Amino acid sequence: MSFRSHMAQALTEARAAAARGEVPVGAVVVAPDGRVVAAAGNRTRELNDPTAHAEILALRAACADAGSERLPGHDLYVTLEPCPMCAAAISFARVARLYYGAADPKSGGVAQGARVYAHPQCHHVPEVYDGIAAAEAETLLRGFFAERR
Ligand SMILES: [Zn+2]
Repeated sequence: MSFRSHMAQALTEARAAAARGEVPVGAVVVAPDGRVVAAAGNRTRELNDPTAHAEILALRAACADAGSERLPGHDLYVTLEPCPMCAAAISFARVARLYYGAADPKSGGVAQGARVYAHPQCHHVPEVYDGIAAAEAETLLRGFFAERR
């Protein structure tokens, strides 16, 4: 199993986002053949785009790579619990498995808040694995916000 190394790459993207002054969240998409087809960090400030979350940017790049609006059999790794917007986009893309790190009590939409995948309107529910390298992701986020206070 290589899920640890894929989360390590997502954490690298999160650190790069922090260095750009963005909220440190990183995401990686892995194709069914094991190839990393997309890696991205938050760019909402840089792009003046509230939808430029790491997951959305990674999904866009992975879909471009696949030449498809859907990513069946793909895995998405993200350092933080996806927000409702990203959780919905992950469902729309038909991502097979979602691995995430830290829980997000403030904005998360998977295990709390909107609980997008528990809703009857959600037509595709990925397999969800949480808490992968959660401590590292949390430390990164805490450090980032402590610096800003
Ligand atoms: Zn999001």
